[in-house]
Amino acid sequence: MNERMRGLGAKKSIIRELFEYAKTVRAEKGADSVFDFTIGNPSVGAPDAVSEALIHLIKTMPPEVLHGYTSAQGDPAVREAIAAYVRDTFGAPAAADKIYMTVGAAAALTISFHAILNPGDEVIVPAPYFPEYKVFVEGAGGVLRPIPSLKGSLAPDVDAIAAAINEKTAMLLINSPNNPSGAVIDEATVSRLAAVLEEKSRAYGRTIFLVGDEPYRELVYDGATVPYLTNYYKNTIVCYSFSKSLSLAGERIGYILLHPECENANDIYAAICGAGRSLGYVCAPSMLQFMIPYCLGKTSDIEIYAKNRTMLYEGLSSFGYEAVKPEGAFYLFLKSPEPDAYAFLEKAKKHGLLFVPGDDFGYPGYVRIAYCVQNETIEKALPRFEALAKEYNL
Ligand code: PLP
Repeated sequence: MNERMRGLGAKKSIIRELFEYAKTVRAEKGADSVFDFTIGNPSVGAPDAVSEALIHLIKTMPPEVLHGYTSAQGDPAVREAIAAYVRDTFGAPAAADKIYMTVGAAAALTISFHAILNPGDEVIVPAPYFPEYKVFVEGAGGVLRPIPSLKGSLAPDVDAIAAAINEKTAMLLINSPNNPSGAVIDEATVSRLAAVLEEKSRAYGRTIFLVGDEPYRELVYDGATVPYLTNYYKNTIVCYSFSKSLSLAGERIGYILLHPECENANDIYAAICGAGRSLGYVCAPSMLQFMIPYCLGKTSDIEIYAKNRTMLYEGLSSFGYEAVKPEGAFYLFLKSPEPDAYAFLEKAKKHGLLFVPGDDFGYPGYVRIAYCVQNETIEKALPRFEALAKEYNL
């Protein structure tokens, strides 16, 4: 057996561990004994457009097509629909023959890392970041280099990123809206990052890719917008997923969109197809692919998340906690009232509150609260957060 794989499989992520803990406590002490804010599993159902599209497909499409293999990189008409949607909605470069359908963002990222990285290549990522990035990057032979984001706003620290780029840097990976902070990277910052990557690519004589991980693109509040990356930088790969926008996390559907005018675009796309092939990530689930053209631009009811965000942010602030106001996704990043976020979690557990220490996202001293829950869960949990604040004399 491969020892590294055994190690990865044997060690549960803290999120999974807490999720299991919550289930056990609930089974013993009842539903309201613990409020679990650990996992980013949407509790709001998929929009009707999803089931309507699936029923329509089942009734009208020959089953051998609906349930059969598509092309390895995905059905051409589905990829064309996605490309047209991206062009029309964001005015951004996109082409069907540079899109690759995947089982969610996880596969999109894994394929992209395998397609681009050579052993020892570095991937720069602003911290805090989604912990699986490290597993995915290392699995592809690369090295993840987290760069702490700016204190307060948690915007990427462009100067620190520029200073960290070296001859081994193969890509900059950004995630906006961000898991775990909810921060959205604004247009000025994307432009500055693009300028840095242009300059450093020239200086080091290699293409440095910009990879955008965008499963939360549509989940934004107060009119925030997420710049479409192919509008800013040629050597861009967008990894998208319908897991969160359509609440289809368990169905596993997403895609890779390579900028059609990327340097050596045909070779890079061939590398993406090759990585998909070598990992066995071919022919993403066909019924879910065929559903996509009916659901592009649709979302589940994000008003529920918007309401949770306001209740939680305002409630916690009024109790004396310090939080980063989330502009998107469904996470709130809260400053731990004591330096050790694990110690804070242990105290919170006694109040029946569960969340994830920021250490696991490469940003100690904070905790992530996933608010993709029903409004009443927040209502019931707030008094417990208040009691916890009192313990700290906030
Ligand atoms: N990237 C980020 C930032 C995520 O939060 C997640 C899932 O929570 C993923 C990628 C993986 O998404 P998917 O379910 O599409 O594989």
